[in-house]
Amino acid sequence: MAYIDSVKDSVVLQTPSIGGKSIPSNVTETVLCGNLQCTGGWLQRWKNRTRPYFEGQWACSRNCLSQLVTQAVRREVGSSIAGDEFSPHNHRIPLGLVLMAQGIITPVQLQQALQRQRQRGHGRIGDCLMEAANLSEGQITRAMGAQWNCPMLTLEGFSPERMARLAPQAVLEESGMLPVRVAGGKALYLAFEAELNPAAALALEQMTDLHVHSGLLPSSQYQAARKRLAECKGIATNEETAEDQDSLVKAMVSVIEKQQPVASRLVRVGRLYWMRLWLEGHAVSCIPGESAEDVLDCVWRIHP
Ligand SMILES: [Zn+2]
Repeated sequence: MAYIDSVKDSVVLQTPSIGGKSIPSNVTETVLCGNLQCTGGWLQRWKNRTRPYFEGQWACSRNCLSQLVTQAVRREVGSSIAGDEFSPHNHRIPLGLVLMAQGIITPVQLQQALQRQRQRGHGRIGDCLMEAANLSEGQITRAMGAQWNCPMLTLEGFSPERMARLAPQAVLEESGMLPVRVAGGKALYLAFEAELNPAAALALEQMTDLHVHSGLLPSSQYQAARKRLAECKGIATNEETAEDQDSLVKAMVSVIEKQQPVASRLVRVGRLYWMRLWLEGHAVSCIPGESAEDVLDCVWRIHP
């Protein structure tokens, strides 16, 4: 077993990689099936060892690919439980108290804002505070940033066309993520409206290999930017539903088998399972290029 592991390691080292996603090398004789339980005895083994790749590993057959995908789906389902338990919401200092501590509003203004919210029976406290104390959107957003311990972002350098290729619209809508810009090819500035979504930000980080910096954007700017992003073309995306985990695995295996990607991977964002496939080596990049034909996104929602 130890011997097999060391052989696998040496294979990984020989494999060139862009952004952590391995690209098959031309020396293909040493590539081993990524399924640890592979017996190599499958009747219909795939001859080409440069494809298909799923999460950095080549599979020798549909059976082995199915094993790799099953493990990935289990991992993502498991992370959903951990993600749901993570609820920083309950531990945040109320927005009104933050503003009062910063000396931006008085206790009387806070009382007035709370009264407005009660009278309406709905509405965000931020809006009521803006009205009661005549605050700007920026002041509210900065105070929310203090609640979440994150900065207030700006739309400087925002390129909707480019950012629309970073993730499918469905994933962005599900999570409230608004990618703003990539700095230095490595750092992604990711905006949210009123609260962060750390689980979704982590998933995007894992999918893109970019280092994600989350922050808040004032509501009006956020909404306007989301609208511009939604009007952009983005990557070809197949959206489907799956009955359960097993059907999800089957659907993923079918897509990978058909498309034979040189790289592919899965992350879960909320209720969505997002698989990205890089169909050609030159297309393997954290943000697909303008002619994004060689990248395919698949998004599944599992029936409740
Ligand atoms: Zn195999």
